[in-house]
Amino acid sequence: MKYNQSQAMQPAQESKRSGNDTAAAVAKTAADSKPNNAYKIVIDPGHGGNDPGAGGVSGKEEKEYTLALSQEVYELLQQEPMFEPYMTRDGDTFMELDDRAKYGNDLDADAFLSIHGNTYTDSSITGTESYYYSDNSRLLANTIHKELVEATGFTDRGVKKEAWRVLTQSEKPAILMEVGFLTNKEEEAKMLDPASRSRVAQAIVEGLKQYFQETGGQ
Ligand SMILES: [Zn+2]
Repeated sequence: MKYNQSQAMQPAQESKRSGNDTAAAVAKTAADSKPNNAYKIVIDPGHGGNDPGAGGVSGKEEKEYTLALSQEVYELLQQEPMFEPYMTRDGDTFMELDDRAKYGNDLDADAFLSIHGNTYTDSSITGTESYYYSDNSRLLANTIHKELVEATGFTDRGVKKEAWRVLTQSEKPAILMEVGFLTNKEEEAKMLDPASRSRVAQAIVEGLKQYFQETGGQ
C-alpha cells in the first residue's frame, strides 16, 4: 500500500470494522463523555498495514498482537473518568513513526504509550522491557514497567533509555513497552492467551493510574 499523509492522519479509514469508527469519531466520542480535566492518553499499537513487525513462532504477526492489546487498554481507559484515551490506529493500517508522535503532540496528550512485542534471532531469549528517552518519561516508564512485569511473570529485563523515534519526537512523557518475546514459544503463547493479555492490559491501566495519582500529570 502506498503511503500518503492523509491516510496516515486518519489511520482507521481503511479499517474493516464498523463504518464510522474512524480515529476522529472515536476521539470525539471520548472527548464528549469525559470531564475536561481528564488525562489524554495516546495508545500506539506498534507496526500495522504493510509493516507486520516481528514474526511470532506461531506465524502470527506482531502488528496483530499490538492492536489487540492496545484495543483492550483503550476500552479499559474509556471506563475510567480520569482518562481520555486515543489510538494512533485502530485497524490494520500503517502510520509513520513521526506522525504517531505528532498525533500525540497535536492532541497535547498527557502520555504516549507505544505497545510492542519483542523479537530476537535466539528463540531462548525472554523477558519484558520498557523504554523511555526524555528524563520526564522515566517515572512513567518505571511505574508501568513494574506493573507490567508483575502481570506477565516474565523475566524483568529492565527499564532502558533508548532513542526510539516515537519517543524522541514526543513532547510529553512517552514510553515504549516490549511486553515479551514473540520469538520465544512459551512467551508468545502467554502473550496471545486472552486471559493473560487482559491482565497485561489491566496492569498498564493500573500503572497509568498510579503515575497520575502520584504526579498529577506534572
Ligand atoms: Zn515492534
